Amino acid sequence: MVESKPARRVRVVEVGPRDGLQNEPRPIPTRTKIRFIESLADAGFPVVESTSFVNPNAVPQMADADVVMLSLGRRPGVRYLALVPNAKGLDRALAVGVDAIALFTSATDAFARANVGTSIDGTFARFAPVVDRARDAGCWLRGYVSVAFGCPYSGPVRPEAAVAVAANLFALGCDEVSIADTIGSADSDAVTDLLVAASSALPIDRIALHFHDTAGRAIDNVQAGLAGGVRVFDSSAGGLGGCPFAPGAPGNLATERLLTTLSAWGWESGVDLATVERAVAALVAAGANDPGTNAGDAALLPDRERCGWVTGSSSA
Ligand code: MG
Repeated sequence: MVESKPARRVRVVEVGPRDGLQNEPRPIPTRTKIRFIESLADAGFPVVESTSFVNPNAVPQMADADVVMLSLGRRPGVRYLALVPNAKGLDRALAVGVDAIALFTSATDAFARANVGTSIDGTFARFAPVVDRARDAGCWLRGYVSVAFGCPYSGPVRPEAAVAVAANLFALGCDEVSIADTIGSADSDAVTDLLVAASSALPIDRIALHFHDTAGRAIDNVQAGLAGGVRVFDSSAGGLGGCPFAPGAPGNLATERLLTTLSAWGWESGVDLATVERAVAALVAAGANDPGTNAGDAALLPDRERCGWVTGSSSA
């Protein structure tokens, strides 16, 4: 008699419309973004990171955040996550019905200063008034720890340092915390070390991992994450979010690659790959840069000065 195996479920959080598209050099029409987000929701993602309520002067690509969130046809059960950097951003987000909020901080002071102009503590000072009001409004909160494995300014990051920042995000009231390898420097040993450090300090079932494929190790890192008990992974449809100035230098792990791999390993995500592929094809057809460059080339690291890491764009 063959015993049925228990379902092995993972959650995949789609970040392409925000973490990906904010790096596109050319303006993308608002209606194209809306269709992209709606198609990704149709594909079955539980969370679609959709836009960002940052200063439009700092990130022009996200200047239409209000219209995007107002015009979106929302699927019940899907969280349309929006990045909110401060109280002003929260005012805008709540006014258009946002109910899932992303807060960005960093594992290093150097990256926080370069990216958002303040220290790690400074980012938490900005979060405090946001979190209280967002909670009162019933929002779901997701925190991000950027450069959790390596920083372009201060080098390798100790696991304990990244874990401490994540613990503070939970203490602040985040429902989930995504730990991000923003420059793609992690390897599977580093992921294992981080999860060992996290095991006594963080709720592993509320941790997500956000890998970049810059050095071609994202899938190995996902495997290490699964082995360490993590069941939530971020990815970007089409691999959007690579550096637009360095063709062949991939950034965010491509959703298609993650879904294919998880499926081959026997993990269920509930996301339909064909629908994701159609969403990306429609985006490309609508004139965005061809995102199909996520082939992996460790020699082509992005130029940090030109890749949105220093533009106040809250990179993850
Ligand atoms: Mg990213």
